[in-house]
Parts: sequence; C-alpha cells; structure tokens
Amino acid sequence: MTSHLNPAIRQRIEQATGADSTMCWNCSSCDAECPVEIATDRLRPQRIVRFANIGLFEELIVSPEIWYCLTCRRCNRVCPNLVKPETLIRYARAAAIRCGAVSYETARAYYDLFRRFQRVRWHAVHHCLHGDDGPISAARWHSWLDTPIPDSTASISSQRSFKSNEPFRQAAKAADMSMCFTCGECSSACPVAGERSVFDPRFIFRMVNLGLAEELLKLPSLWLCVQCGRCTEVCPQRVDGCGMIASLRELAVREGKVEEGFVRRVRDAQKQIFARLLDEIDELLGLNVGFGNQASCPVALAECV
Ligand code: SF4
Ligand code: SF4
Ligand code: SF4
Repeated sequence: MTSHLNPAIRQRIEQATGADSTMCWNCSSCDAECPVEIATDRLRPQRIVRFANIGLFEELIVSPEIWYCLTCRRCNRVCPNLVKPETLIRYARAAAIRCGAVSYETARAYYDLFRRFQRVRWHAVHHCLHGDDGPISAARWHSWLDTPIPDSTASISSQRSFKSNEPFRQAAKAADMSMCFTCGECSSACPVAGERSVFDPRFIFRMVNLGLAEELLKLPSLWLCVQCGRCTEVCPQRVDGCGMIASLRELAVREGKVEEGFVRRVRDAQKQIFARLLDEIDELLGLNVGFGNQASCPVALAECV
C-alpha cells in the first residue's frame, strides 16, 4: 500500500468530518479515556487522528482499529482541544464501506457480532455475581455469544424498598430521575444498548422510578454501562442517567449486594472479553479488508475522501 503524506487530503478529511483533527497536539488524553484501550492496549484514538492529520486516507480506512471502537464518545468528551476522534472513526467506517475496502456483508457481520458481544459481557457479569470467575475460554465465548439473556419472570409487586432505602432515594433525587418520561432517547444513544434485553438504560431508569432498589442492586446489566455519559447528554428532561448508574454501582458495593472482590473480577473478565472481541474482529476483517488483488485503492483518492 502506498502512503500519501498529503496536506490536501488532510484538509478534505477535515472538511468532510468536522472532527477538528488538526487541533490535536498528541496529549493522549483520548487514549487514557478509551475503555477499549484501557482493557486491551490495542485502540489508540490519537493514532487514528494522526492518520487523518498526515493525510493517510488509505491507512485510515483499512485500519482494524476503526472497528474496535464502541462509539462511546468518551474520547470526544475528554479532548482539551475539542478534537472528536469518534466522529472521525464513524467517518472512516463509512468511507471504508463506500470505497469497497470493507464489504457491506462484512460490515453487517461486524454489527451482528458487536450486538451479540454484549450478551457475552452480561453472562460474564452474571457468573461473577455468582462467584464464578473462571477464564473466558473459547467455548464460553461462543456459547455466551449465542445465548440470549433469559427473560425475567418476576412480577413487580412492591415499591417498599424505595422508601426504606434512603441512599437510593437520595441518588435518584440527585439524578432528577423523577423527571424521566420514558421517551427512550437515552436507549437510542447508548452504545451498549444494541440488544435491549441485555442492556437498556430506560429500563433501568424505570426500575429506579418504581423504587426497585433490591432488584436493581443485583442486576448484571448495571455493570455493562461504560459510563460514557451519552444518556445524560441527550436526555430532554436533563436526567443524569450516567450518574444514576454510577451511584447504583457504588450502593451495590457499599451495601454488600455484591461480594468482596466482585468489581475486580468483573474488570478482569471484561479485559479478557474485550481482547477476544478484537481477535474476532481481526479474524472477520482479516480476509475481507483491502482492495482485492490491487495494492491500493483503485479509485482516485480525491473521489473517495
Ligand atoms: S469512541 Fe469510545 S471506544 Fe471509540 S475511540 Fe473513543 S473512547 Fe475509544
Ligand atoms: S432520555 Fe431522559 S426522559 Fe427519556 S427515557 Fe431516558 S432518562 Fe427518561
Ligand atoms: S453512560 Fe448511559 S449511554 Fe453510556 S453506556 Fe451507560 S447507560 Fe449507556
């Protein structure tokens, strides 16, 4: 593949994305904030911004890293220069498909894998909650990937815990939970809510408003949230959903609803799971990314960018 150190391409990418990549001063704040980088050391948003800044369009669109991203936007939020790596990543994915570097079928397979990946995370938390912190073997990974989350059969019959748990009530008040009118904007924006039976912030917030403290503090889904803050950003009622979930986790630990060591076990399991996800993405893309038997993009770059 040829490298194009090209200021004109850099300018065109900047115009096409509005990601403000040229403002990057390589501080690495985005790398330090990225949950995938933290778990695996394999996704550096700063590197992707660098590709755009040097005008390396082909390198940008064939980079597997653009498919490792959760699109959580934590990198966008933390950048002191208001650079938006996630915006650039979404542009790069669309360009990769548009240019034929990644086929439509491969992209569909990727999004299906990503949706089912949240099942694996849920099953891992569920096992950790029950004291099982065994390694995430290949057999477990594939079994969990294909196993939907069981429906809850418990009926909601009591709201007593809302009244009896003062810290829970205070947390709900601080997050303005009572303002929620269940519009679902949070669920639409949440990067983890690909399969609603696995994770749905609106569902959690509804449980808060029903006062179901006991049920919530034992809910595996609580630990799937990546604390990106998008639910809070998009809520038309200014409910702080992200803060509420953080408070629920703290309460679960403080009130002994999860065993000692649970948080560490979940963190370890998530590291293994994310690493396996990236390997799966590499395998999926391995034979399916690039320009066929051509060394580089057969179309003039200026038409693709
Ligand atoms: S959007 Fe999230 S996962 Fe993607 S690069 Fe930024 S911080 Fe990492
Ligand atoms: S976006 Fe806000 S109001 Fe709408 S369901 Fe979510 S928390 Fe409730
Ligand atoms: S902070 Fe909100 S949007 Fe982000 S993962 Fe958690 S629930 Fe979803």
